Order: sequence, then C-alpha cells, then structure tokens
Amino acid sequence: MAGICNLCGLPDELCICQEIAKEQQKAIISVVRRRYGKMVTIVEGINDVAIDINKLAKILKSSCAAGGTVKDRTIELQGEHKKRAAKVLEQNGYQVEVR
Ligand SMILES: [Zn+2]
Repeated sequence: MAGICNLCGLPDELCICQEIAKEQQKAIISVVRRRYGKMVTIVEGINDVAIDINKLAKILKSSCAAGGTVKDRTIELQGEHKKRAAKVLEQNGYQVEVR
C-alpha cells in the first residue's frame, strides 16, 4: 500500500517534501577517531523531519560498504568514508560540507 505524506497529504510518489527539505539541509561530514583507534564517519546536520534518516543511512551504508548506526539524527558509519559519503549525499541532492 502506498503511503501518504504526513506533511502535504499527497501520496508518496507525488510528494516532493523530501526534495524541498534536502535543498535546505546541509549535511556535515566529519571523521573522528574512537577508542582503539577506530575511525568513524559522522554525518550530521540533517534535521528536517521530512527526510527519512534511516533510509539515507541505508543508502550510505551500502554505498560505502560499511556498517553504521543512526543516533538521533546523526548517521555514524564505521571507517573513514568522507569522500564516498560526500559524493553519495551530493548525488542524492544534499548540500555537503566536509570538515
Ligand atoms: Zn509531502
């Protein structure tokens, strides 16, 4: 069954809320070193509720071939995937800032 968007009330295939939201979002990508020297790529700044953060995380995880988690609205990817994540986000219509 096709979903109806909570924001505009249109069926999902007609809804452009996510597209509009994306243009106003800036994904901020950074890499941090966690304990035991593990690198983690952090994607934050995607705060609009219109954007399905879990779906985005899934796209990033498969594109980077990495495991990852979503905490609040921050995506964490295992490993250093700054360049790849930036490219994927850009291709998906987001503004990107790499730190
Ligand atoms: Zn909508």
